[in-house]
Amino acid sequence: MNGALAKKAAPEFRAAGTDLSERRRSGVSRGPLIDIMSADDTGIGWAANGTATIGAFTTIETIAADGRLAAAYPGLAASAAGLATPQIRHLATLGGNLAQRSRCWYFRNPHIDCLKKSGDGCPARAGNHLYGVAFDLGPCVAPHPSTMAAAVLVYDATIVTDRRDALSIADLLGDGRCGWSDHALQESEMIKSITMPVPRDGERAGYRRAISRSLAEWPLVELCARIVVEDGVFRFARLAAGGIAPVPLRLAAAEAVLTGAVASAATIAKAAQQAASGAKPLPQTGYKLDLLHGLVRDVLERLCG
Ligand SMILES: Cc1cc2nc3c(=O)[nH]c(=O)nc-3n(C[C@H](O)[C@H](O)[C@H](O)COP(=O)(O)OP(=O)(O)OC[C@H]3O[C@@H](n4cnc5c(N)ncnc54)[C@H](O)[C@@H]3O)c2cc1C
Repeated sequence: MNGALAKKAAPEFRAAGTDLSERRRSGVSRGPLIDIMSADDTGIGWAANGTATIGAFTTIETIAADGRLAAAYPGLAASAAGLATPQIRHLATLGGNLAQRSRCWYFRNPHIDCLKKSGDGCPARAGNHLYGVAFDLGPCVAPHPSTMAAAVLVYDATIVTDRRDALSIADLLGDGRCGWSDHALQESEMIKSITMPVPRDGERAGYRRAISRSLAEWPLVELCARIVVEDGVFRFARLAAGGIAPVPLRLAAAEAVLTGAVASAATIAKAAQQAASGAKPLPQTGYKLDLLHGLVRDVLERLCG
């Protein structure tokens, strides 16, 4: 019996089950299940200062379709609208999206051990890692699967669990260097809600993904971006990419190029060049840097157009 099956399986929450059910079917998830869907944590609340709190059991479709949310946080709403399929969005919850497990085919294979199943190595590293990271930050080379996590990062939203308040996405997911988990939740710690910050005056935001087929697929690379342009100058820029690292990644070098610079095609081109700063692609993932470059350019040009 391999290490993954030999280890005593921990209990696992089930929200809508769109991720979990596949792992149950294959036998990768074998512990006791705890059904957690609760009407109390469904829906979107607004505070007097204009910030939104979104319950963990709110569906992705609700987030995508909410007009007030789209007006205040267009990057979050566009991220929700862009992920998976209408059927999945209709069921999948925000909490489940943030806590979903890796899509790596070695992890999802019940007959193969890997770091995330108590094994001692990452078989994808020396194996087929075509969809792997382009920023090689840790022993596991699978990118984080959550589209909503990149949006939470770009908005500096905070997360509340039943044990902890005001977690950042880095607190929730870790820094990607440990390799043995997709998040840093404790056993049976439940995400309850996320709180968005007050939107900046005049901010614009957008989301785009590069994908290998038009529907029903995780993106190869995705980007959520927020900018404020005032008097023709980028006053604020925040870019977060998914699909390229074990956690969603801020593109700090690109942000630095933009901030304080004239909002021009030349500045955008320079920022796109810097997006891959610090990248360490694997033998099969260099192509993701070209996709990242194109996405940064595309999203910024649309926001400035
Ligand atoms: C064809 C297809 C395409 C997809 N494309 C994308 C994509 O582009 N981007 C993307 O982000 N996702 C994508 N997904 C994944 C989908 O978004 C997730 O399966 C979904 O968001 C999970 O939500 P759920 O409520 O079904 O979670 P569940 O399947 O119920 O749970 C998922 C995991 O999260 C844990 N969990 C659930 N809720 C909580 C909570 N409140 N607190 C703590 N832990 C919790 C569970 O224990 C489980 O481990 C795709 C899925 C499919 C099938």
